[in-house]
Amino acid sequence: MTEVASVLFGREDIRRRVDELGRTIAGDYVGREPVLITVLKGGAVFLADLMRATPLSLEPHFMAISRYGDAEESLGRVQILLDTDVDLAGRDVILVEDIVDTGLTLRYLLGVLLARDPASLEVCTLLDKAVRRIVPLTPRYVGFDCPDRFVVGYGLDFQERYRNLPDILKVDDLEALKDDPGALSPRFASA
Ligand code: 5GP
Repeated sequence: MTEVASVLFGREDIRRRVDELGRTIAGDYVGREPVLITVLKGGAVFLADLMRATPLSLEPHFMAISRYGDAEESLGRVQILLDTDVDLAGRDVILVEDIVDTGLTLRYLLGVLLARDPASLEVCTLLDKAVRRIVPLTPRYVGFDCPDRFVVGYGLDFQERYRNLPDILKVDDLEALKDDPGALSPRFASA
């Protein structure tokens, strides 16, 4: 019988890669104090680890958005539910994302942030599902290339579940998960 999901990136691989990203960012931003903006809720776990892996003075800030349907239906139009109050004019900004898929959401967010006149704006995403890209955007920092599968864990959810799984799982049987959204709960026991 096919498992509903299997581990794609384990916690140790994630830790190593996040440490590498943090050191790379620290090297690239020496002498500067970047603003890291994360989109809740998916990016929260990644940001928490990334900022501690980045030996540099930086400021974490948060935004929250909601999408109208999925990215393709909404053409990336999102509603900003929570905005950051930091003045981005003249600041070095890094948008920290959990995953970039079609790129539609990212394009919208980059437009919003660019309008605030940052000195620089880069994207750091943990996962890059480049095969699904509609908008030709290439994030400056990428944790892992992600296959064309639905993934959960390490901040990523299915119907608000599984964000607190320490590993990233790829869902091999999405229909089974839709039928039983709690099907991956036994994974918490081994977490
Ligand atoms: P995009 O606009 O790039 O298509 O969508 C990006 C957003 O879609 C992500 O921030 C995330 O919320 C959601 N998303 C895309 N792929 C996945 C996935 O495989 N798993 C989960 N949990 N969310 C995803």
